[in-house]
Amino acid sequence: MRLLSHLAGWFSSIRPEEFMTLYTTTVGDTIYLPSDQGIGVCVHEHVHVRQSRKDMLYYVKYLLSSRARTYYEVEAFCASMEMEYYLTGALSSYEQYISALRQYECSVQDMDYARDKFIEAQDRIKKGVIETPESVAAIEWLDEYSGR
Ligand SMILES: [Zn+2]
Repeated sequence: MRLLSHLAGWFSSIRPEEFMTLYTTTVGDTIYLPSDQGIGVCVHEHVHVRQSRKDMLYYVKYLLSSRARTYYEVEAFCASMEMEYYLTGALSSYEQYISALRQYECSVQDMDYARDKFIEAQDRIKKGVIETPESVAAIEWLDEYSGR
């Protein structure tokens, strides 16, 4: 994790000590949580576990390509939206998700892509369509065990 914090510093303005205490990170099947996080964050990170299992170049692409990083994060943030809607019955504005994505240093063009995808996702989610496999699994589990 410490090595990863230094790598993050090479590719962004994040200081290693900030990374270790503020950022949730997934490496392989291990999710590093700096503090107690909600299930929405866990679902988001599990999307990254699936992405990394599916593509052996995931980490290279994630670190070196704004487009790939944006694609991966948009999918994970859409899972976060699905969980937010399930848990609260409401969605934060897509601008808040865009704001969260800014810390990933995506290009302007990629941020335009992200905005369009977030708007599409919010329309879909408000219609009750949950499609991210990790959200579907989490919601099924919560429905069965949380007494909702
Ligand atoms: Zn993420």
